[in-house]
Amino acid sequence: MNKQLQELTDLTIKEIRNLEIVLPEIYQDVFYSKAKELEINLDDIDKEAAMLYALQKIQLIQNETERSASALKENVVNARIAITNKDNMALQFIENNMIELESKIASLQEELYIDELTRLYNRRWLFEKILRDDHFQNNGLLAFIDINKFKNINDTFGHIIGDKVLHVIGKVLKKVKDTTAVRFAGDEFLMISDQHDEDEIHKILHTVNYNLKKTPFKHNQEIFYIDFSFGVASFKAKDNFKSVLENADIKMYDYKKSLR
Ligand code: GH3
Ligand code: MG
Repeated sequence: MNKQLQELTDLTIKEIRNLEIVLPEIYQDVFYSKAKELEINLDDIDKEAAMLYALQKIQLIQNETERSASALKENVVNARIAITNKDNMALQFIENNMIELESKIASLQEELYIDELTRLYNRRWLFEKILRDDHFQNNGLLAFIDINKFKNINDTFGHIIGDKVLHVIGKVLKKVKDTTAVRFAGDEFLMISDQHDEDEIHKILHTVNYNLKKTPFKHNQEIFYIDFSFGVASFKAKDNFKSVLENADIKMYDYKKSLR
């Protein structure tokens, strides 16, 4: 194939590359108009050979286009996967947000229902989760606990040590089985149990108190001991909290008096 024809063909192909759809007629039109531009007399050359060459070239282009198209298709598929993946990422993102939100709610609830110092449930938890309109919703037992001579700890070792003691008491009470501990106020705690065996809870609390009593607390060189007084009252569903607490408080006070 002579140089002129090759140039013509290449120019034509270059031109048609910019076209989205290449029909044979268009190719022919472009081919002839480019020939005219290049002042190529097509009568002088083997038109058929030129066409064959051009068609081969076009075939190559078509193959290339097809490859590109399939690559494009692949890209589209990949893009779809990518889009799907992107959705998954979005879902993941939402999930992460949910997890974050969940832990936010959990920490908000903790802030709301957990006493910061002792990490026990607080009064709000008791009134909102256990009671309904100040009445019990189920049957159970309520123990009222008050630390003995706690003021002395504050007065002797300071409030910070007093706080540490309350924190330890919180840990101890939290471990008591079959009961839920609540920090009711200052050095007062409640133990709520859905068990009905009053003797059993008495025994448990006596053991807890006994173990606490023989545990030395050390501050600098000084050693001190802690114990508490407690009273247990049983309650039934719909019983008024205040009157059940009063019963437990009377018993707790009797316990305290017995120590003096
Ligand atoms: P009793 O044996 O009669 O119970 O004597 P007590 O000294 O324990 O007297 P009471 O229970 O009336 O006093 C509780 C003290 O607890 C009073 C207060 O200074 C202290 N207190 C209350 N809340 C806190 C707290 O969050 N941290 C500390 N360090 N002390 C507290
Ligand atoms: Mg006390």
